[in-house]
Amino acid sequence: MEYLSVAAAQKCVLESVSTLKVESVRLERSLGRVLAEEIRANRNQPPYDVSAMDGFAVRSADLANVPAALEVIEDIKAGDMPRKTVQAGQCARIMTGAPVPEGADAVMRVEDTQTLSESSVQIIRAVKPGNDIRRLGENMRTGEIVLTVGTEITPGVIGILATVKRAQMQVYRRPRVAILSTGNELEGLDEIFDPNKIPNSNSYALMAQLQALGIEPVLLGIARDDPDELAHYLQRGLEFDVLLVSGGSSVGVHDYVRPTIEALGVQMRFWRVAIRPGHPLAFGTTAKSIVFGLPGNPVSSMVCFEQFVIPALRRMMGHQRLYRRTLQARLAHPVAKRPGRTEFIRVVLSRDNDGGYVAISTGTQSSGVSLSMAKADGLLVVPAASNGLAAGEQVTVQLLDGTVFQDEVGFSE
Ligand code: AMP
Ligand code: MG
Repeated sequence: MEYLSVAAAQKCVLESVSTLKVESVRLERSLGRVLAEEIRANRNQPPYDVSAMDGFAVRSADLANVPAALEVIEDIKAGDMPRKTVQAGQCARIMTGAPVPEGADAVMRVEDTQTLSESSVQIIRAVKPGNDIRRLGENMRTGEIVLTVGTEITPGVIGILATVKRAQMQVYRRPRVAILSTGNELEGLDEIFDPNKIPNSNSYALMAQLQALGIEPVLLGIARDDPDELAHYLQRGLEFDVLLVSGGSSVGVHDYVRPTIEALGVQMRFWRVAIRPGHPLAFGTTAKSIVFGLPGNPVSSMVCFEQFVIPALRRMMGHQRLYRRTLQARLAHPVAKRPGRTEFIRVVLSRDNDGGYVAISTGTQSSGVSLSMAKADGLLVVPAASNGLAAGEQVTVQLLDGTVFQDEVGFSE
């Protein structure tokens, strides 16, 4: 069977998922969610022309010859409404955010003035009309669309929602995700230590990858390499929107995951991708679920999650930007490679003297060396056709964390 390219596998996964239904959340619980409705301004902000500084509301024409002494007719604090009109030779003491009174056309900041007495001030500089005034509706105007469908709710967006007094809003539902690890060799986190066993780390690394996306998964535990036991667990997993199965998808005679999920009605969409690490990746669908058969090797599992599971989950959650951020870096050392698969090399990034990034391998790139994954800032992408990279080459690195994503995959394979 021909290995699928990374791009073809990503395309197949994305074609199999759609945005989930909507639900209502409180503003306080909405961080990281995606808006499923358009939001309009319900007021002008600011509601009137306001001062941008603590200072004096003046008539700019009065300051043709400076310094000039002006009579202070009023004190306007934020929240006050002015009671008087500023006439020639007059000004009003004004605080940031307070309404600019009638007659005044500029604000002079307090640093450019000298107090002469309680009721008079000396202005040192001239100003242009409009100086340090924030205009009515500068931020938003009544009825204007301020947030569109598909907007991710960031702290800045929360500020806007609070400004338009939306205590509750429609967002896309988050996927319910189950994680199942498989393998007779596995030892659970709370099981008695046995030096001959392999600790189940994949369930927890996958859990954390999901939590970083704002998803709280359900851990189904460990299924032994036994078709009946597997079927029992997989059936439970298929009640979720997304089922992540770790291990058992390879070519070993005891790799029962693919035949067992097929027997449960899952349609296999692909198996084996031209990727290193992670080629035994399997993917299937039912009418209401998607299933990833992730490779058991800890690094392969995490790398496949990054490339295939993240875009699928983000599409389901209504995000526009599906892919991890990429950046350009200079490679610090050569990388050996045979043509064939797209390779993801674990690297740390540092700055060079020109302000660019330098990528350095975190060490052994074996798919079982999870410490080199734990140390990595990103994955250097080596295109499938490449037969190795030289020191100093420009390379693309995909970042391994962060809340900002991008529209395009950002690398060529
Ligand atoms: P498999 O894909 O089932 O052939 O697993 C390949 C290798 O990955 C196994 O030999 C284990 O060493 C390792 N492995 C499988 N599942 C896990 C897991 N849940 N946690 C850590 N390592 C695992
Ligand atoms: Mg196994």
